[in-house]
Amino acid sequence: MTDEQTRRDDRAHVFHSWSAQAQIDPPVIVEASGSHVTDDTGRRYLDFSSQLVNVNIGHQHPRMIAAIQEQAARLATIAPAAANDKRSQAARMIAERAPGDLSKVFFTNGGAEANENALRMARVHTGRHKILAAYRSYHGATAGAIALTGEPRRWASEPGMPGVVRFWGPYLYRSSFHAETEEQECERALAHLRDTVAAEGPEHVAAIVLETVVGTNGVIPPPDGYLAGVREICDEHGIVMIADEVMAGFGRCGEWFAIDRWGVVPDLISFAKGVNSGYVPLGGVVISPEIAATFDDRPYPGGLTYSGHPLACASAVASMEIFEDEGILEHVRTLGAETIEPALEKIAAKHPSVGEVRGLGVFWAIELVADRQTREPIPAAAVGAVAAACKERGLWPFVAANRVHVVPPCTTTAAEAEEGLAILDEALAAADAHVT
Ligand code: PLP
Repeated sequence: MTDEQTRRDDRAHVFHSWSAQAQIDPPVIVEASGSHVTDDTGRRYLDFSSQLVNVNIGHQHPRMIAAIQEQAARLATIAPAAANDKRSQAARMIAERAPGDLSKVFFTNGGAEANENALRMARVHTGRHKILAAYRSYHGATAGAIALTGEPRRWASEPGMPGVVRFWGPYLYRSSFHAETEEQECERALAHLRDTVAAEGPEHVAAIVLETVVGTNGVIPPPDGYLAGVREICDEHGIVMIADEVMAGFGRCGEWFAIDRWGVVPDLISFAKGVNSGYVPLGGVVISPEIAATFDDRPYPGGLTYSGHPLACASAVASMEIFEDEGILEHVRTLGAETIEPALEKIAAKHPSVGEVRGLGVFWAIELVADRQTREPIPAAAVGAVAAACKERGLWPFVAANRVHVVPPCTTTAAEAEEGLAILDEALAAADAHVT
């Protein structure tokens, strides 16, 4: 039996994110387990979205649930001004896993707030006001974070925050620099960033913020050398380097922090999502000792009632322990390299609608085009048809613009990944039909 009461109440009273309220009919999800979610008709879906690319540990992990229950029974909430065992432990564990000497953690309730605070820290620390942020980025929907965001979701919130300057990051498939190789793309993107810094006056630039691996805007891993080049530009001018790892961090790329893949140490890292898979809302900023020291003898001008919430921190501690006990980071690297990548390459070879596949770990995109020569993006209707074909076959996909993102939980088994990729393979026939 379907849950009509929930559906009615949802339509009458729940105001949904990013949606034309009269045009949506959200599915009613009643339970979930591991890589699957189940709707009110009893239909099970293989979750190839990790919801909003956050359920890295999979659904309803029993140790996560137990950690939250134990914490709730002992101490459900306590103000940020107190010290608390799980808060301290979560901060220590995150700092121990963070690159270089990053050593302190400011906790927030999600990714947007993490970026708000990262940019505040950078501005106060440097005494400068300009922030360089990339096109094709998403940093969250609060005032500052949406102002940093370099894609159309920002437009309705403009004019946003003064001082944000935009630059183009590397994306070889649709190169803004007319590059033909990864090396050229890297070199030219860095030259462009240098020019942008020079034109803005380096002494006015507080921070360069970028997603280590661009997420919602295409799953675009940076070419080798790019992040090191950004680090160099920042070092030259005393600019704070902020790596937004809200989506890329905590396992998605097979590392605690995605930037470890490129061996670069930023000054601030914003995180959320995978840190505890959203079992309880949590995000934060990992901070370099130098920036943290700015606030040794002067108060940090920011705070949140629920900063370091015990339920959230208890689940973050549990999540990091589970990742290690179950070897999940290694599993992600193997799953990506041995199962997902080869399957996607076969898919790319077979379907004329596939322009490019790219990614790493459990973070992949299939970019769909109407014409492989011109690379014209496939129409939205075609992507909708692929998504519908996936759902009919029991796969919950993640689609964005002209892409299907392959972003299952980090705990997805090779057999589940193969099953999902086989469904995607069939569903892509719906896109092929739109190739001109
Ligand atoms: N930064 C990145 C890279 C994200 O992908 C997101 C959300 O998708 C955010 C920030 C915002 O996080 P939240 O929705 O938790 O505020």
